[in-house]
Amino acid sequence: MPYLVREHLYIGDIEDAAKILQNGSEEISYILSVLSSASISFFSEWRSEMVFPTKEIRKLYFRESKQEEVLEGDKDKKKLMCLVEYAGKDLKLVRMGVPLRDMERENLLDYLDVCLDFIDNSRKERSVLVHCFAGVSRSASIITAYLMRTEQLSQEDALESLRQSCEFVCPNDGFLDQLKMFEDMGFKVDHTSPIYKRFHLKILGDSYNRGERIDSSQFGVDPGLPAVADSSESSTSPNETTKLNPAYRCKKCRRVVALEDNVVEHKPGEGETCFKWQKRSGGNLFNSSDEHECSSIFLEPLRWMKTVEEGALEGKLFCPHCDARLGYFNWSGIQCSCGSWITPAFQLHKSRVDISTL
Ligand SMILES: [Zn+2]
Ligand SMILES: [Zn+2]
Repeated sequence: MPYLVREHLYIGDIEDAAKILQNGSEEISYILSVLSSASISFFSEWRSEMVFPTKEIRKLYFRESKQEEVLEGDKDKKKLMCLVEYAGKDLKLVRMGVPLRDMERENLLDYLDVCLDFIDNSRKERSVLVHCFAGVSRSASIITAYLMRTEQLSQEDALESLRQSCEFVCPNDGFLDQLKMFEDMGFKVDHTSPIYKRFHLKILGDSYNRGERIDSSQFGVDPGLPAVADSSESSTSPNETTKLNPAYRCKKCRRVVALEDNVVEHKPGEGETCFKWQKRSGGNLFNSSDEHECSSIFLEPLRWMKTVEEGALEGKLFCPHCDARLGYFNWSGIQCSCGSWITPAFQLHKSRVDISTL
């Protein structure tokens, strides 16, 4: 039986979901399925007699970057975020499928917004069941995030509160870390936050270490090229946006190679702590008086970094306009002159760039 967590909000396992899909429910009209595949065919792979009719409502894909629209007909290249469909008996249920495996290295954060919004909207109408396979890690992580966001609870308090309803919930350690980041970002997934940037870089580093090809679609947009208009964002022109932003330029040819937003900050002098996403210890995370000790700045990978795209573990970074050497990259990390290790690292020597406002 599903466990009641809050009014109109239940947690359960695949068995609970299958029963509702099969027989309907007086109470529950919405199902959020967090399984390794978004498709309802996962149920028939689990038990062959579990075949449910569906009618697709919509599918959402991850966008390559904020600056680009998802192109019709090009969708197979992008990763599925979720699938929403009518399902079950008489197609009366609304089911959202989200593809997420119960592994520490899975990127939970990128799915949170769509999941939490689905729960919010469903609860306004009728009850929603959030389920994964066992009802222990994935569904619990999503409900923990939901309680954090709606009740402004810390990760620990939200999880503790969920345990009052369902004592055996236990998100995996990687998800717990990500929920902590969610807390530190103010109960939202802020892609511009240094916390998110470091997380995203680590995810990329993990993919690289698994031997996956990292193509430039996963890199940040080249700030030296004219921005592509983004219809979904505000009407500010690219020029207005960049004017506010300090820019790093190649010293030799003055081409813009990075904006402040592309910089992945690190705490000067900190040893090999880059793998840990530490909570701020109060005050300014980056002690500005130590900043002069760093001879380099570290960036997220950007699309002008052609040598990175070639797939090598490490190499030089060249200015895309004049070919001057600007720095190095190394997927295994580089040590800054201040002592900090940054992993993976995409480094510009401060002596090779000028900083200016556009
Ligand atoms: Zn440094
Ligand atoms: Zn140059």
